[in-house]
Amino acid sequence: MPDVVIVGGGIAGLAAAYELSRQDIGCVVLERHARPGGVIFSEEVDGFTIDGGPDSLLVQKPAGIQLCQELGLGARLIPTKPPRVAYILRAGTLHALPAASVLGIPTRVKPFLGSRLFSWPGKLRMGAELFVPRRHDDGSDESIGAFITRRFGREAATYIAEPLLAGIHAGDVDRLSVRALFPQFVEAERTHGSLLRAFRARQSALRNPQSAIRNDDGVFRSLPGGLSELVRTLVQALPPGTVQTGAAVTRISDRQSTESPPDIVEASPRFRVERASGAPIEARAVILATPAFVTSTLTRDYDADLSRLCGEIPYASSAAIVLAFDRQAVRHPLNGSGFVVPRVEGTLLAVSWLSSKWPGRAPDDRVLLRAFVGGARDPRALERSDEELVRQALTALTPLLGMTAPPLLSRVYRWERANAQHEVGHQARIAAIEHALTRHAGLYVTGSGFRGTGIPDCIADGRSTARAAFGKLKGKG
Ligand SMILES: Cc1cc2nc3c(=O)[nH]c(=O)nc-3n(C[C@H](O)[C@H](O)[C@H](O)COP(=O)(O)OP(=O)(O)OC[C@H]3O[C@@H](n4cnc5c(N)ncnc54)[C@H](O)[C@@H]3O)c2cc1C
Repeated sequence: MPDVVIVGGGIAGLAAAYELSRQDIGCVVLERHARPGGVIFSEEVDGFTIDGGPDSLLVQKPAGIQLCQELGLGARLIPTKPPRVAYILRAGTLHALPAASVLGIPTRVKPFLGSRLFSWPGKLRMGAELFVPRRHDDGSDESIGAFITRRFGREAATYIAEPLLAGIHAGDVDRLSVRALFPQFVEAERTHGSLLRAFRARQSALRNPQSAIRNDDGVFRSLPGGLSELVRTLVQALPPGTVQTGAAVTRISDRQSTESPPDIVEASPRFRVERASGAPIEARAVILATPAFVTSTLTRDYDADLSRLCGEIPYASSAAIVLAFDRQAVRHPLNGSGFVVPRVEGTLLAVSWLSSKWPGRAPDDRVLLRAFVGGARDPRALERSDEELVRQALTALTPLLGMTAPPLLSRVYRWERANAQHEVGHQARIAAIEHALTRHAGLYVTGSGFRGTGIPDCIADGRSTARAAFGKLKGKG
């Protein structure tokens, strides 16, 4: 019998298992699908290395890079290829996002003044951010759209906040929470009174040769085999048999709910984990590393309040359409990492030029592209067939990139309810979930629905959740 059962073998559940195994705590990961990794999925097809889901680890959030290093993958981390330019579509033209920016927010005035991405009134309004009074900080939340409109004006919200900041979450800019997703913006306003001032100060610090977070190789890393390489190596680092695939969990129950004080983890098993097939497994602690709506279902009979709170966290669906071409069949130089599409400009969300972004993704005479559709902008995208989605991508891309021949390869990766939406009020909901969990010693939740959505956030949270479980099991919590 394992001490801990982890439900869900995405990156959060695997990171939790890794942390427990380092502490010599016996655990098992029950994963519904035939493969672990959740939304992380890479494959080799005809000489192309394709990430159907995530492809990047953000350097500034060190938990992803650190885990790679611990697993012996440090030397295999690859930076993006220069030029590290991202484009934004406006009026049928791809405009380079000025290099001097943090998540699209300018850090120097001159490159922005020269950019044709914004109108002159738009540029003036963005520059006036320096003089916008800081909001009285009463701790209340605000949407990303409301925050950026208030500080930089509507044009910045339309051409930066919507496609870039909300776009990475496939979300609605007027619903996603700035406090949950971009706390650094809220903090910058609070401490400096202006984001422009705060980011300029940060850039000067980065130019200092002594700076520990100086990064000349760009802010993203990947692995030569795609991000599934991280998943494979992580599973191999666990004791054999830790990860059980094809093992859907249906329900969690508490064997001792009436007898045990809620804050004590018993030496004998407290939880009963029921599976779609096979006998229930008993454990002293359970970590639910499932999407929040699954966590809601699993806890429905156990704690109705906890279940309701988890069920209120929304998710968006998206699809990645991957296309490969002969290099000479695409007229555009593809000199950058790709582009994002503001809602007012079209139906695609974003397009990565995978073979220009990463080394080794395609044979030299070929190019590999990936278009995202769906999200809050087009919630019914997954109802379309693969053929329709490929046609949609080609129709949008051909006038922009100048394709002169059909694709050599096309693949569609469907991500149904895979993008957690941390909407306005998310942090208050998480506080209520944490409070509900105090009623159940030994029960934990982690994963992208809860405390952070990116891979590094999920790794950090999976590991810290495991440490909390470990502390309780050893009687230190
Ligand atoms: C298309 C896409 C692109 C992204 N790109 C990036 C990127 O480039 N960089 C980045 O940092 N982040 C990116 N993200 C975000 C990040 O990848 C995810 O938030 C993160 O990987 C989620 O990990 P997780 O373990 O929380 O959830 P998941 O990966 O969803 O894992 C949950 C697991 O639980 C399993 N499960 C569900 N129900 C049950 C059950 N009843 N019993 C047992 N198991 C069950 C599922 O099968 C799944 O394997 C992207 C997300 C998406 C969808």
